[in-house]
Amino acid sequence: MAPIAARKPRAVVVGSLNLDEVFVVPHIAAEGETLSAAEYTVQAGGKGARTPRMEADGVRVGRVVVSENEHTGRAIIQLSASTRDNAIVLFPAANHRLSMSDVKDAVLGEAGQPGDWLVLQNEVRFSEEDGGPRAFHDLIKLAKEKGALPPLPCKMPVFAVLWSARRVPRMLTAPGLRRRAKKDDVSRIYPLESVDVLLLNAHEARGLAGEGWSGAQAATPVQLLATICTKIPSVRLVVMTLGAEGVVARWRSGSGEYEDTHLPAAKLLRPVVDTTGAGDTFAGYLIAGLMRTVDGDGSRPVNFQVDNALREAVVAAAMACETHGAMAGVPTFAEVSQRII
Ligand code: ADP
Repeated sequence: MAPIAARKPRAVVVGSLNLDEVFVVPHIAAEGETLSAAEYTVQAGGKGARTPRMEADGVRVGRVVVSENEHTGRAIIQLSASTRDNAIVLFPAANHRLSMSDVKDAVLGEAGQPGDWLVLQNEVRFSEEDGGPRAFHDLIKLAKEKGALPPLPCKMPVFAVLWSARRVPRMLTAPGLRRRAKKDDVSRIYPLESVDVLLLNAHEARGLAGEGWSGAQAATPVQLLATICTKIPSVRLVVMTLGAEGVVARWRSGSGEYEDTHLPAAKLLRPVVDTTGAGDTFAGYLIAGLMRTVDGDGSRPVNFQVDNALREAVVAAAMACETHGAMAGVPTFAEVSQRII
């Protein structure tokens, strides 16, 4: 077994950096429609951003790689003034050109100790020379070798993986990937069988459960979770966010039995102004909550304390809806704790 971490566990985020260009429009534009935006702002977004704000917040940004030859990723966000909902076009640029050697260094270097978490999401890709989407298999394998994840309950620190499967189903409908998906099962392109915690929104869950994007929505959220857990039995916790309806989760408890829970969305104290980043805020608080339940010295059994983590995540995500901006809208832990009381 690798030596026990002498410091607090860390989350190593392999994520995207974007400039969010936000257009406040009367409604989300339909195909062929031209709309005038009432407001326009540029903000830091993506699943990570090298900004003074992040550094001030205590995020270690030293592993961010600046590529001189690539554009910064762009998110073109339409924010509806009437429903406060959004529609997003992403141009991944540098986010799809990750280099395995850079990422390996971050995961296996100073940051990769037992008890740390590897946090992945689907807005990044390795460059084709590094194997494209399949490179995630190698990365996860390396990460798990650093801190193998034994079955519950155990007394060993955990190096777990959260795979935020945002856009997986949508990508599978892209012509190139659809061809690959027929040849190779989805879980072979994206190594879902190596993921411990899976976070999805309702659209993504339907896609993964094989329900498609449109048409009759046959299954209830809990049935969808059960289907996903049957398809990917190795996943220990599946969380599905339901927008204003809150969240449902299914996880295996210490005894190996599945437990389900549903938490309604937290009550808002102010009107919804911007839902951009609600899901990401949820993800951040979920990971932070789960990380606090893993004891760094390995003296306690590893057992996700799901309820507490979900409660904090639901409150934080609601607070993010009350504030403009994907990053600026993320509340501090003190603000969330105050709202919970
Ligand atoms: P995504 O943004 O990834 O599609 P969701 O829309 O499901 O994710 O939102 C993520 C979480 O944000 C939800 O589970 C919920 O807790 C919170 N949330 C979203 N919309 C609202 C809302 N209108 N009121 C309160 N909470 C909300």
